[in-house]
Amino acid sequence: MSASARTAGETDAVIIGSGAGGAPIAARLAKAGLSVTVLEAGRAFDPAEHTPDETTADLYWMEERLSGGRDPTAFGANNSGQGVGGSLLHWGAFCPRPDPRDLTLASETGRGRDWPFGWDELKSYVETVETVIGVSGPADYPWGGRRFAYPPVPRNAPADAMARGARAIGLTVTDAPAAVLSRDREAGATPYRMACVNCGACHQGCRTGAKGGADNSFLPMAAANGAKIIANARAIGVERDASGRIKSVIYRRGGQDHRLNCRALFLCAGGVETPRLLLNWGLGNAGGEVGRNFMTHVATQVWGRFDADMSMNRGYPSSLISEDMVRPSDANFAGGYLIQSLGVMPVTLAGGFSRGAGLWGAPLVDTLRNYRRLAGIGINGECLPNDDNRLTLSDEIDAVGLSKARIDFSYGENERRLDAHARRVMTELWTAAGAEDIFTVARSAHTIGGCRMGDKSDGAVVDGDGCSVEIDNLYVCDNSVFPSALSANPALTLMAVALRTADRFLERQRTGDL
Ligand SMILES: Cc1cc2nc3c(=O)[nH]c(=O)nc-3n(C[C@H](O)[C@H](O)[C@H](O)COP(=O)(O)OP(=O)(O)OC[C@H]3O[C@@H](n4cnc5c(N)ncnc54)[C@H](O)[C@@H]3O)c2cc1C
Ligand code: SF4
Repeated sequence: MSASARTAGETDAVIIGSGAGGAPIAARLAKAGLSVTVLEAGRAFDPAEHTPDETTADLYWMEERLSGGRDPTAFGANNSGQGVGGSLLHWGAFCPRPDPRDLTLASETGRGRDWPFGWDELKSYVETVETVIGVSGPADYPWGGRRFAYPPVPRNAPADAMARGARAIGLTVTDAPAAVLSRDREAGATPYRMACVNCGACHQGCRTGAKGGADNSFLPMAAANGAKIIANARAIGVERDASGRIKSVIYRRGGQDHRLNCRALFLCAGGVETPRLLLNWGLGNAGGEVGRNFMTHVATQVWGRFDADMSMNRGYPSSLISEDMVRPSDANFAGGYLIQSLGVMPVTLAGGFSRGAGLWGAPLVDTLRNYRRLAGIGINGECLPNDDNRLTLSDEIDAVGLSKARIDFSYGENERRLDAHARRVMTELWTAAGAEDIFTVARSAHTIGGCRMGDKSDGAVVDGDGCSVEIDNLYVCDNSVFPSALSANPALTLMAVALRTADRFLERQRTGDL
């Protein structure tokens, strides 16, 4: 591989992956005057290419991953992206903040893991991300008084039903924080973005640019400060110097291998690819911890049929939230969950129903015939780290010669109890909203953990600044570094962690510690 690689030059920092982990780092390092090169395996998209067609959208990382355990998680379109901007090209833009209590769950409950930094430190980074990507929401947010730069986008019909049911059972709900513009915006180095037109196709890519993502925020900011963003560039190996530090990255582009010398490497390839690459490349795993503590979110849904037309394919999908269950008073588990309204396109819905509700053949077809009258709500729930939930290498090899990932994942007692609680609350809510033929869909979402951030003495893969505990010019920043899953969906937290990682790196440079 490396013998035939052409030397492509030299850069201060190579960033592998252009998503929520990599893009903010690129923007911040480039602004600080460093030369930055982002390698992205996927292609670049023009927003005008996105269409609301589930069968043609090619924004997903579809390479095979082997999934095992008692609660195997689904990969493919459900769980990761590929393209300049990463999974933010097709994320739902549902934008809850991390609850400060979730960052110290272990101190609070004796279970899970504390994060190496608290809300006091993360808050300003979260606020910066919100300003950069643009977040809409209500004037009076009931949990923690959060303020939004844009008013909320219109609710879809499932959100109206959720509001009705919540009122009946005494649950507080409001318009969801969403990285979706409710009015046009022009902002410095970032492209002109139109307001949301309620097309409902967020998971197929946003054609108007209303949805915030790395492609219309941090990446253009990085490029404006000289960062090079190379699409269709797949990192396939690294080279190290005699002391073990990273000296170059080898990437493949158009069938040719290239060598890029660098002073530091930021691995931001996503919650599965990052631990897989570290294991394949034999990096940072002397302690045998890479791949351990893989987590998802408990993402159970409750569905039902309504008398009225719901047309859930129309309108911003996740337009209502409840944070009441972040610490339920009657919980017999640690942590909690958020509840949100849903809007799911038909093919994705069919996949979810067959996988999570056991619907096949005629019963599946009969259920989907009622698509226009179906509506659902779902949760995003805490998942505790567990050593045995683990990403390892399988004996199958992929097209670039690397071992494929095998991920074994099973819910523990805490996840099962949380799930049972959520099923009960959501069923009560949906009954009160007037749904009939109610059923639940078992589901997990997001790929988290595998490169835990924390103390070396406590088995962490990276320290509290995101730097490998073994290689001082290797940084990791994506969902793999999360010590615990949190009850909030991960992207906003991840972008904030990425800005902090960049700042910590710059500080180490400034003090000559690197
Ligand atoms: C369908 C879906 C909906 C979601 N909705 C929400 C939501 O509403 N709210 C929320 O907070 N979160 C949501 N998420 C989660 C959120 O999108 C992710 O947590 C976040 O985007 C992950 O960012 P990342 O940078 O870790 O990884 P990714 O976004 O996966 O980025 C990694 C990038 O690295 C590239 N890459 C991988 N390997 C290589 C290599 N060898 N060489 C070069 N490039 C490589 C990939 O192509 C990819 O572009 C959703 C996720 C999905 C899949
Ligand atoms: S619903 Fe709004 S944010 Fe989502 S894809 Fe359509 S225009 Fe973009």
